[in-house]
Amino acid sequence: MVNGEWQTSDQSFAVVNPANEVAICQVAEVTVHQLEQAILSADASLAVWQQLGDAARSQCLIDWQQLMRDNLQDLARLITLEQGKPLSEAKGEIIHAANYVKLYAQLAQDCRQAISIPASEGQTAQVLRQPIGVVTAITPWNFPCAMVLRKAAAAMAAGCSVVLKPSELTPLTAMAIAHLSIQAGIPKGVFNLVVGSNAQAIGEILTQHPKVAKFSFTGSTQVGRKLLQQCAFGIKRSSMELGGNAPFIVCEDANLEQAIKGAMIAKFRNAGQTCVSANRFLLHESIADAFIRGLTQAIEQLIIGDGQNETSQIGPLINQAALDKTTDLIQQSLSLGATLIVGGKAMSGKGFFFAPSLVDKVTAQMPLFQREIFGPVVAITRFSSDQEMITLANQSEKGLCGYLYSQDQKRIQQATQQIEVGLLGINVPRLSNIHAPFGGIKQSGMGREGGHYGIEEYLTYQYVCQQNGG
Ligand code: NAP
Repeated sequence: MVNGEWQTSDQSFAVVNPANEVAICQVAEVTVHQLEQAILSADASLAVWQQLGDAARSQCLIDWQQLMRDNLQDLARLITLEQGKPLSEAKGEIIHAANYVKLYAQLAQDCRQAISIPASEGQTAQVLRQPIGVVTAITPWNFPCAMVLRKAAAAMAAGCSVVLKPSELTPLTAMAIAHLSIQAGIPKGVFNLVVGSNAQAIGEILTQHPKVAKFSFTGSTQVGRKLLQQCAFGIKRSSMELGGNAPFIVCEDANLEQAIKGAMIAKFRNAGQTCVSANRFLLHESIADAFIRGLTQAIEQLIIGDGQNETSQIGPLINQAALDKTTDLIQQSLSLGATLIVGGKAMSGKGFFFAPSLVDKVTAQMPLFQREIFGPVVAITRFSSDQEMITLANQSEKGLCGYLYSQDQKRIQQATQQIEVGLLGINVPRLSNIHAPFGGIKQSGMGREGGHYGIEEYLTYQYVCQQNGG
């Protein structure tokens, strides 16, 4: 959607339902000319959007999120169709995304208030907060609604306009959201959607066009690194929400029942395809066997199936490449001495389903420890002291998220200071909070989304010093 109008082109690509491998529809490929038009219309719309005033901009966002709530069932079905997650999770994602938009509608009201600062005698000094300008963004397939809106709503609340490319695997939800943006009265050109299967070529334009002021990315560290290099040429401001490798630590004093319940959520939500998925299970050796017994029982009860069925608790992986990668990570780790307890392979029949799995005796040298799995696989490593626990937890170039289960307040305080992550859950498996700064350290990225932190990413400071009286 460019300047509020849907466009077509000579080329198209198929969007596939991962639960049955059937093409849902064909989507038109964006052309280079349309991409250029999208950026130019975003630039042209800046003045209109900013002159609308804070209250009217805020109302547009309020109306947008209300339309999402009004269309909850249809949007959820669309997410499940193209992404595969169970309908209940899809509904949760839309509500979560709508809550972000509502929060940014509220913050739009005063996020640009000038700040007075001390000045030399006879002078007045102020810091003004200005919208940075045209924002381009690229988002992944694992949260086709929330990842789009966490960026777009914050940028638009700040007074910026947006050109966004969703993943080619899940463009339909983003297209529905774009359609609702026009219904909500958001001026044409403020939110543009460009859809295509040549991510590299699209990314080169979105990161390098002279009219682009800021680039925001959510995706893998590998791709983020390339895009950051592209942004360097034009010194574009950038935000990077990248991959994770979350440790899920269970200490000897943990409440095991609580830890097992937490593990099921932190690992199997969205079939393990979230950036905050528990990736490395670090268990104190004294409780490891009991934890594995309990978790294996819970895994064996999981209902796997098409997310459209209300009973399904875990859906398919996104595509064949994800199935192959998950199988490889397990096979390579088994060949290095890990032990398979349950699962371990793709399921037979149509759809990209992988059996929920548990692998024991994983060491820090194995791929299941070193790589972001992004699949329904529990990888267990044991430790015998707090020092070893922290060393293992930090033995990753990623630092997005971590989980700690313990009832010892002193241990919790020490570990909180030592674990190198941007988000830490203590005895909780769900960290979602629209007010919190979401983002990682180390190679998990830079910048934050959520709360007022998210809006700051799209504002720039202007210091103004004026001589009083003339
Ligand atoms: P990905 O392969 O990096 O793709 C993410 C986006 O980048 C997609 O839109 C993709 O387009 C595009 N892309 C791929 N190659 C590109 C290139 N050379 N130039 C420009 N764009 C390119 O990641 P993914 O597999 O979709 O998503 C999973 C990753 O995202 C995981 O590492 C996960 O941890 C991370 N993630 C992080 C957060 C966070 O908040 N930190 C949240 C969610 C996910 P196509 O899909 O069309 O190829």
